[in-house]
Amino acid sequence: MGVVALITRGGDDPAASASGADPVIPAISDADIAAAASQLGPRDQELVNIGRTGVSINRAGGSRPYVALTFDDGPGADTPAVLAALKKAGVPATFFVVGTGVKANPGTLAATVAAGHEVGVHTWNHRDMTTLSAKQQKAEITATAGEILSATGIASRLFRAPYGSVDPSVLAQAEDAKLLSVLWDVDTLDWTQPTADQIVETAVSQARPGSIILMHDSGGDRAATVAAVPRIIAALRAKGYEFATVGDLVISDPPGAADMSSESRTTQQ
Ligand SMILES: [Zn+2]
Repeated sequence: MGVVALITRGGDDPAASASGADPVIPAISDADIAAAASQLGPRDQELVNIGRTGVSINRAGGSRPYVALTFDDGPGADTPAVLAALKKAGVPATFFVVGTGVKANPGTLAATVAAGHEVGVHTWNHRDMTTLSAKQQKAEITATAGEILSATGIASRLFRAPYGSVDPSVLAQAEDAKLLSVLWDVDTLDWTQPTADQIVETAVSQARPGSIILMHDSGGDRAATVAAVPRIIAALRAKGYEFATVGDLVISDPPGAADMSSESRTTQQ
């Protein structure tokens, strides 16, 4: 696994001096980041090229009846139940993972990738990236990408900012790391602990061709989300929709200018 071999871990934590209370963020050198970025395959390059400077993708172009289910904040205790529901339904999804969760649950992430799902970077400490220095932003992104690589052998090409909070610096750091910034157009608000019925209603009523649907597989009790997943899939299939990972969705149905934005989205998780 050549890419893995190019990533080495130093003992220096570039964010520690400015954020002493945080867990240590593993450091990855600029040379290692550049070496990993040079390993982009054709699909990776196609995906990265879909983004434009200073924007996030909120949804795909809407030309095909496909949507992407996305799950943030894992891997965690409820992730295996989400994976089981997706497997039973035969649906691929995309997981935006937190570095600390990957470090604690590398086997869960490996199982996620082995099941055919896509993985994206959701930072190391899940902080509002717009409150951090550029150096801290870079550390949050590259350390998480490195941890994903260690756990799975996959160089992720997707990034989602915690809380949907972005600014030009955050988007530039993602771009430098060869990551496509992806937010969403349908927020199930599952972090507010609604019932499964409410999560299903929100997802199914708001989804349209090309939608990227936000849910969470960690960061709180996700029993309602777990219960909602098979019902969302069944209801959207009944309306004629199929499911794709975020990468496959946007490659097969490229977003237009109206589907991208430099703005933050607002959510609490
Ligand atoms: Zn999150």
